[in-house]
Amino acid sequence: MQTCSKCNASSPDTVTLCSSCGADLREYSLLVQSLKNLLENPRVKSIRVSVSHDACPFCYALMNTYTKDEVPLLPHTGCSHELGCRCFYEPVLAETAIVGKVIN
Ligand SMILES: [Zn+2]
Ligand SMILES: [Zn+2]
Ligand SMILES: [Zn+2]
Repeated sequence: MQTCSKCNASSPDTVTLCSSCGADLREYSLLVQSLKNLLENPRVKSIRVSVSHDACPFCYALMNTYTKDEVPLLPHTGCSHELGCRCFYEPVLAETAIVGKVIN
């Protein structure tokens, strides 16, 4: 599911233009906009891709923390859930990265 950042209408993962206002969702979906904000924020060290609790195995497999260079585009093109990919981006701040560090 993609949400248009201009008019808030929802569109299926498979379309590239908002079904309501015609905006290009590769640029104006809420996900793309949120990713842009995270990439531009210097306090954000890396970006976590989170899944909803009932996500499909494909999305679960891609749930991870990515560097800003590696972060995949959402919605996942291989998602098999009937409602489509509902993954979202979460910022990992420098401070939390230190607190959450795993000590071996
Ligand atoms: Zn729209
Ligand atoms: Zn999925
Ligand atoms: Zn997904």
